[in-house]
Amino acid sequence: MPCLTGISILYQCRPEGGQGDVHPIYDAAIAWTGDRIAWVGPAAQLPAAFRDGPAFDAGGRTVIPGLIDCHTHLAFAGWRAEEFEQKLKGASYLEIARAGGGIVSTVRKTREAPAEALVTRCLDHLGRMLALGVTTVEAKSGYGLDLANELKLLEVYRDVASRCTQRLVPTLLAAHTTPPEYKDRRADYVRLVIDEIIPAAARAGLARFCDVFVEETAFSIDDARAIFAAGRRLGLVPKLHADQITDTGGAALAAEVGAVSADHLERSTDSGLRAMAGAGVVAVTLPLASLYLNQPPVQARRLRESGVRVAVATDFNPGSAPSYDLPLALMLACTLQRMTPAEALKGATAWAAHAIGEGAEVGSLLPGRRADLVLLEAESVEQWLYHYRPNCCAAVVAGGQAVVGALSPA
Ligand SMILES: [Zn+2]
Repeated sequence: MPCLTGISILYQCRPEGGQGDVHPIYDAAIAWTGDRIAWVGPAAQLPAAFRDGPAFDAGGRTVIPGLIDCHTHLAFAGWRAEEFEQKLKGASYLEIARAGGGIVSTVRKTREAPAEALVTRCLDHLGRMLALGVTTVEAKSGYGLDLANELKLLEVYRDVASRCTQRLVPTLLAAHTTPPEYKDRRADYVRLVIDEIIPAAARAGLARFCDVFVEETAFSIDDARAIFAAGRRLGLVPKLHADQITDTGGAALAAEVGAVSADHLERSTDSGLRAMAGAGVVAVTLPLASLYLNQPPVQARRLRESGVRVAVATDFNPGSAPSYDLPLALMLACTLQRMTPAEALKGATAWAAHAIGEGAEVGSLLPGRRADLVLLEAESVEQWLYHYRPNCCAAVVAGGQAVVGALSPA
């Protein structure tokens, strides 16, 4: 049974207490058997039974749970760097769309891309995310926007899940935007999602969650209600993109439909956030998107006052957040959203796990949970997110195996 000692601080991040409660254990030890944690606590109390197996020394480093990116749009073809430049020169969203850019250009390229090419790209991204300490990733479809291509993306995720180190949690986001061939016929596209795409994805067991982009420029509250009802009937749990650009009542809808999470929330009302807290919906904040879009980020003070549990994710996508750097998102959660480093850590571990229905498996260093942990070259979580460096991750253990760096023998 492997055992790691020499840990100056281990943050357990138990799924309880407030946002900033990350349950540090000083001079800690952790032991695991197979892919499961067997024991965690102060090294001085390590039971003799756990001293028999291979012993490793963390060299005084900090240990946190494997990080969880609970909101990504991982599978897409091409990039949109030219659009980035146009935006910086002042082009509006509409001007970019008229010039053939925007989300529709990613949809076109993604439809044209062979599945194997998308698998290769996803594996490349995931390898880089793993090096940053990210051991669980939620991944949305949403650049296919027709039956064949939405299924293609979910099948890409099934293939990727069998080949990557991370746990990959797939979400159907057929209601990302209305595809060009349904221009001015949104209701017909919503019918396609309800009558064909959701049943096909659910029948094939390709998705856990059903996500809808609820926004004036995307789908209405009524569209979302109908889509979620169709998903629920077939076992897909609701999740939504809510109140990013305008307040459309997405937060309240998340509470009404029992969504596992509502994401973005930059424009949500206090009453909407309180309703989410009451219904146990996790608030997923996406500070990289706020930064790239130069929009006012959601403020931690308002989230705190509502009592909602807060997660932090990257929103990795080629338009509004072309970065999979979750530690960077955590630093921005501090500087832009005014979260403390401990609050941000809880948001990428315990509460991120709850945002994807994985709270019993990952996100906390507790006996019985998966042995996913990260050794940080930082003396505390405060130092990690304050003295931001390209990568502080010295080693990553996923499912009990050292998958990045090596563990030093004790
Ligand atoms: Zn998103």
